[in-house]
Amino acid sequence: MNTTRNPDVPLAPDLPAHDGPLFATLWETAGDIVVLLDRGARLEAISDRGLALLGRTRAQCLGRGWPDLAVAPEDRARLRRELEALPENGGTGLAEHDLVTARGTRRLAWALAALPGRDGRPPRVLACGRDITDMAATVKTLRENEAAYRCIFNAASDAIFLNDAETGAYLEANERAVALYGYTPAELRAMSPAGLSAGYPPYGAEEIREKTRLARQGQPQLFEWLSRDKAGRLFWTEVNLRQGLHSGRERIIAVVRDITERKMAERALRESEKKFRQLAETIDEVFWLGSPDWKRIFYISPAYERLWGRSTKRLYEAPLSWLDAVHPVDREQVLGALTALIGRPVTPGVLPEYRVVRPDGSVRRVQARYFPVADDTGVAYRVAGIIEDVTDRYAAQEQLKRVNERLEDMVRERTRTLNRMNQELIREVTERRDAEAAMAMAKEAAEAASQAKSAFLANMSHEIRTPLNGILGMAQILAATPLDGPQQGFLKDIEESAGSLLAIINDILDFSKIEADRLELSREPFGLRGVLASVEAGLGVLAQEKGLGLSVDVAEDVPDLLLGDADRLRQVLVNLVGNAVKFTEHGGVVIGVQCVEACLPPEAAEDHASQELLFSVSDTGIGIGAEDASRIFEPFTQADDSYTRRFGGTGLGLAITKRLVALMGGSIGLESVPGQGSVFTFTARFELEAYPPEPAAAAPSPPPLPPMDVLLADDNRVHRDIIEKWLLRRGHRVVAVADGQEAVDAVARAPFDLVLMDIQMPGMGGLEAARAIRALPHPGRAAVSIAAVTAHAMAGDRERFLTAGMDDYLSKPVVQRELDRVLAGAAAKVSGAVPPPGQAGPDG
Ligand code: ADP
Repeated sequence: MNTTRNPDVPLAPDLPAHDGPLFATLWETAGDIVVLLDRGARLEAISDRGLALLGRTRAQCLGRGWPDLAVAPEDRARLRRELEALPENGGTGLAEHDLVTARGTRRLAWALAALPGRDGRPPRVLACGRDITDMAATVKTLRENEAAYRCIFNAASDAIFLNDAETGAYLEANERAVALYGYTPAELRAMSPAGLSAGYPPYGAEEIREKTRLARQGQPQLFEWLSRDKAGRLFWTEVNLRQGLHSGRERIIAVVRDITERKMAERALRESEKKFRQLAETIDEVFWLGSPDWKRIFYISPAYERLWGRSTKRLYEAPLSWLDAVHPVDREQVLGALTALIGRPVTPGVLPEYRVVRPDGSVRRVQARYFPVADDTGVAYRVAGIIEDVTDRYAAQEQLKRVNERLEDMVRERTRTLNRMNQELIREVTERRDAEAAMAMAKEAAEAASQAKSAFLANMSHEIRTPLNGILGMAQILAATPLDGPQQGFLKDIEESAGSLLAIINDILDFSKIEADRLELSREPFGLRGVLASVEAGLGVLAQEKGLGLSVDVAEDVPDLLLGDADRLRQVLVNLVGNAVKFTEHGGVVIGVQCVEACLPPEAAEDHASQELLFSVSDTGIGIGAEDASRIFEPFTQADDSYTRRFGGTGLGLAITKRLVALMGGSIGLESVPGQGSVFTFTARFELEAYPPEPAAAAPSPPPLPPMDVLLADDNRVHRDIIEKWLLRRGHRVVAVADGQEAVDAVARAPFDLVLMDIQMPGMGGLEAARAIRALPHPGRAAVSIAAVTAHAMAGDRERFLTAGMDDYLSKPVVQRELDRVLAGAAAKVSGAVPPPGQAGPDG
């Protein structure tokens, strides 16, 4: 140290002179720079070290204002204020400012002391400065570091605590710790770790002390801890405890992480894994989970052991060992499929079906499906698969296939058979169709023949009746003239012959009608005994003439009131009784009636009950041989030709009788002994009738009609004459014409009250003429009453005439009673009265 005396420095006046060297030493060694400033802060003295620091000579400095000379401009004003404030602060002070030195700006810490002025001199300031530039930098760095660490400390996402190792008390806690536990830093400083724990074993004070102890021994502790916050909420944390030194004192640093979410996720994972395992281990299929490179197995369900007959343990050890069990025939295909999969992104797929040979030699057929297991980002990190035992299904399919094949065979065979049968059927149908066509042709021919027959019969009856009509009409007219005895006899013969002829024609007509199925029975109430009496009366005369007895024997309980066709019943009886009288010479004829079973009481009529009756006609005549008995019911048959000649007849009577009986619901039979007599029996069924028929009013003689104008159209002169005479006798005016056209012309010319129109006329027929009259322009003329007159006696004729515009219908030969009825109808129409219902019908 340089102890050479600085000439600028005054010796301390209050120190003894021998202490001068001490002062000089102080002057030069105290601090890095010592200056003495006068009142105006001018430099009075400066230490040598100070000059060296400034890098100046003493001459350059002394007397100059100190702030301007050496202080950094920004600190100059502050320095002046500090200097001025010195006296008030007891004369001493500390200051810091930058000094402009030869080494640049340096930071100096100053001790300032005011020196009182002596001997009338003004006070001065002694300033002793120390260069603290390097120390300040260190402090600054320290501060900065501290701030950085605190920042990290608070920014940490985990809670961090600093504890006193000895007492366990919290010294520091970061912001996260405050947020996590809810205590303020001040509150925390008054607590120990036990206060932030669940507080019961194994999360109590004892346990935390033990862990702290271990940490202090240099064994860092990492453990899960159940913590408790200020609100009492328990939550899971992970705690990291380690020992540390701080300011020379032993500390424990605790880093605490909230792992609530992780715990929850772990639990959820555990549960889902449990479920997954339960599922995988329950299903019959083998489930497996492996690496996407197909080389590792993480999981395989126990079903593998059942299906493969090998342990899962072995498969975990050697993940490809399942391939060893694949049937040698299928192995190549399976390996091929696997090789194609390896090294590629996994997509869902199916391996070809393959067989597995178990250690016991049994074989199962399996189908393996696989699919990727992807994470949240879609990356497949696992491959999973399901292997299904399809042995039974395969067997069933095979079986089904075989059954199908058999079925197809059967169907083919059946089809062949069906085709064959079809061919046969077609052939048969064709044959049948041909046969039917032939039959239809035959039927048509038969119908045509039948129609021809009917037409022939109708024509014949017409042809025969017309002259017969003439004969009968003329006979009636003749009878009204004066005749002598023999003439009356001849006339009677004529009438009888004509009557017989009419009966024959009626027979033929009846028969043809029955044959053509055109005969319908009426259903009217009648008295049975009355009918029998009329037959008895009708034929009794003939019997009497032959000296034969004729009697009727009706059982008492046979019901009398019946519903049916009395006329046809009478016709049957007349036929049989007539024959009986005809073929009997001695003895008599008896008509008998009885019930077939029990006779019904009359009350049964209320229920519409029907009664079957048995009729018999017995005679004591010539009888019929057995060979003839079956033939005589055939038409045109007679037992003995010689009798025919003797008794006449057509051989139609029994044929008609048999058919009428059948229409009455019965049958006819015969018992006969030739030479002794015959008994004809027949049955018939009738409904019982509750009410007797209206008593037929005794036909009154027609009331006299007003004279009318009658037009008579008939081509047959005889017929025309007869009718004309009848009309004239009744006081009517008559115009007679011979064909239809003349009739139409006559009506057009003059008014008539009635037209009697023959149907069959040469030229314009009756039907055509009637239509022409109805079409006349004069309404009165067109509406004239027209009555058809015809020998057309076939069923349906009446309807035909009425639809052609006729009002009424008369059949030939015309009888006076019928003519009177028609005249009365016309008269009623003329007078505007309601005409009586037309009762015209075919005769017989
Ligand atoms: P016909 O009109 O010719 O009498 P029928 O059919 O009534 O025709 O009778 C046929 C034949 O049956 C008669 O010709 C006759 O030979 C025989 N015959 C019918 N009734 C008797 C009877 N009561 N006794 C004997 N012969 C009979």
